[in-house]
Amino acid sequence: MSTRALLADLVSVNSVNPSLVPGAPGEAAVADVAAHALRAGGLDVVFQEAAPGRPNVIGVLDGRESGPAIMLCGHLDTVGVEGMTDPFTPRVDGGRLYGRGAQDMKGGVAAMIAAAVALAPTWTRGRLLVACVADEEYESLGAEALVKAWTADAAIVTEPTDLTLAVGHKGFAWLEIVTHGRAAHGSRPREGRDAIVDMARVLLTLEAHDRALQSRAPSEYQGTASLHASIISGGRELSVYPDRCVLQMERRTVSGEDDGVVLAEVGAMLDTLGAADARFRGDARLMTSRPPYRLSPSAPLPTALAAALASRGLPAGPVGMSFWTDAAILAGAGIPSVLFGPGGAGLHSVEEYVNLADVDVCRDVLVETVRLISSSRP
Ligand SMILES: [Zn+2]
Repeated sequence: MSTRALLADLVSVNSVNPSLVPGAPGEAAVADVAAHALRAGGLDVVFQEAAPGRPNVIGVLDGRESGPAIMLCGHLDTVGVEGMTDPFTPRVDGGRLYGRGAQDMKGGVAAMIAAAVALAPTWTRGRLLVACVADEEYESLGAEALVKAWTADAAIVTEPTDLTLAVGHKGFAWLEIVTHGRAAHGSRPREGRDAIVDMARVLLTLEAHDRALQSRAPSEYQGTASLHASIISGGRELSVYPDRCVLQMERRTVSGEDDGVVLAEVGAMLDTLGAADARFRGDARLMTSRPPYRLSPSAPLPTALAAALASRGLPAGPVGMSFWTDAAILAGAGIPSVLFGPGGAGLHSVEEYVNLADVDVCRDVLVETVRLISSSRP
């Protein structure tokens, strides 16, 4: 099967993440499409349940000689399709393939499967793993399960990078801040304490801190940290002082900023507000976080990929990406990882496409990079 036909097949199967859109089908059906293509190309296929009904599919190619284990990794789930017309009917126009998941990231998945299928007939040394994982768009249950059962000496995550080599991205932390006021009738200001106004003080402090974060020197391949308010709620009735206001916020992190750093920073802001006003009460907790990631561009994997790009006259980078990916989970499990995938546009929006020529170039660069690594002697 051609790479483009495989891509069209993948896009035509709804794999919206059910944790994002309740009732959505998830990865099971598209996993079968990936498994079929891997098997037809001569790879062994292993299904791994990341969560009930949420499989990872791992294609395995083992050579006769021992050698490095190389992983290609991409996610099978997509975000929702609200506002799209015919999101699962792939449409080719002007060298682009349109449809949900075309760019994020069935283009990359098609390229990596096609690369493995191209490598299979002459594979003699080391191991090639093609990991198609579940749930990247929500909690990365797929990548978390993958690294518990599988490992590799290097991994290429084929998220869309416009055919540039990316060696880093930011992490993120989600925090909840609660201000505690005192409920009272609106006519009795002495008895009440307005938790929403207290949150306004928090917000102004956060704004100042965001400015400070963004004025720091950018972290290599990650840029600057930042924060923003995401969801806010508070108040019960028009004529009642609100006793509680809840803010959920996001902090984008760079290397060196772990959960402790992020929590301490918000704790210090709340302490300062409390010191300025003894009746101010606020607390914060971490909801979830994901680490930032960065790999030295002089490591063997980015060096090989840069060489494969340079041999085609393509810019070798490396660059950093703005968005978080499963590469951080692979890297956290000790697998040096880079990002490399086709270009397109409309990630998470109502008109999404991938450049078809890029999918082919991505496949060919993957083939060459894997050959370079697999033939390298330690
Ligand atoms: Zn993605």
